[in-house]
Amino acid sequence: MGQVSGKVAIVTGGASGIGEACAETLAREGASVLITDIDDHLGKTVVARITKAGGKAHYLHHDVRDEGAWLGVIAEAETRFGRLDIMVANAGIGVAAPIETMTLADWQRQQAINLDGVFLSIKHAIPAMRRAGGGSIVLMSSIAGLRGSPGLAAYSATKGGVRLLSKSVALEHAHDNIRCNSVHPGIIATPIWGKIPTSAEGNRRNAAIDPVERSAAITPLVRVGEAQDIANGVLFLCTDAANYMTGQELVIDGGITAGGRPQARPQ
Ligand code: NAP
Repeated sequence: MGQVSGKVAIVTGGASGIGEACAETLAREGASVLITDIDDHLGKTVVARITKAGGKAHYLHHDVRDEGAWLGVIAEAETRFGRLDIMVANAGIGVAAPIETMTLADWQRQQAINLDGVFLSIKHAIPAMRRAGGGSIVLMSSIAGLRGSPGLAAYSATKGGVRLLSKSVALEHAHDNIRCNSVHPGIIATPIWGKIPTSAEGNRRNAAIDPVERSAAITPLVRVGEAQDIANGVLFLCTDAANYMTGQELVIDGGITAGGRPQARPQ
C-alpha cells in the first residue's frame, strides 16, 4: 500500500527536475498523476517511465499562465482519474538581472509564470478539492523566498509572494479540509540552472549565477541537493501523515539557511 494510494495529483512543470521527481514519487506511492508542462517531449517521457514501472500517469500540455485552459486541466484530472486530492504548483523559471537594468517585460514574465501561475493553480484546484472532501496544495517556493538573492530580485519577489500566498490560502480553506504548505528548496541540481535567461544576454547559460558547481562548498551537509530530496518532502505533505499541517514552510536546503556561514569542518 503506497503512502498516497487512491489519491489523484496534478504536478505542474512535471516534465523536468523537481516536478519530474515529484510526479514519479507520487506515482510510485500509489497516486494517479496528471503531469502538465510546456515541454511535451519530456512530459510524455516521464509518463512512459511511470507507466512502465506500473504507475498511473497522463501528460497534458499546459502553460500555467493560461487561465482558460486551467478548467480543462482540472476536468481532465476528474474525468480521467475521478477526483483531485493533490496540487503541486511547481512550474517556475528564473530570470536573472540586476534590478537596475531589469526590463519591465522580464519582470512581468517572471511574475506571470511563478506567481500568476501559482495563483491559478490554487484557484482552479480548490473547487475540485472541495468536491473530493479536501486536499493538499503544495507550492514550490525557494530559500530565495526566505531571504534576499542579489541578481535574482524578481525571482525572489515571486518566491516570497508564494510563501505568504500559501499561508493565506491555508487560512481561507482550512474549513474545507484543504491544506496548503510551501516548500523551500536550497540549491538543487536540475536543468533550471542552465536555462536562466538574463535581460541582457537572452536565454543562455549564465555561469555567474550558476551555484550548483559550488553548492557543496556552501552547503552545511556538503553535497548538492537532488530533486528527490525535494520530492520526499512534497510526498510527506501530500500524505495523511501531514494532515494536521497547514500554512507552514518546509525548508529542504542541506542546512544553508540554518545559521550563518558553514562551520569549518574539524580536521
Ligand atoms: P526545471 O528543471 O527547469 O523544471 C521546470 C519545468 O517547468 C520545466 O519543464 C519547464 O519547461 C516548465 N515550465 C516553465 N515555464 C512553464 C509554464 N509557463 N507553464 C508550465 N510549465 C512551465 O526546474 P526545477 O529546478 O525543477 O524547478 C522547479 C521549481 O522549483 C521552480 O518553481 C523553481 O523555482 C523551484 N526551485 C528550484 C530550485 C533549484 O535549485 N533547482 C531551488 C529552489 C526552487 P521548460 O524547460 O520548457 O521551460
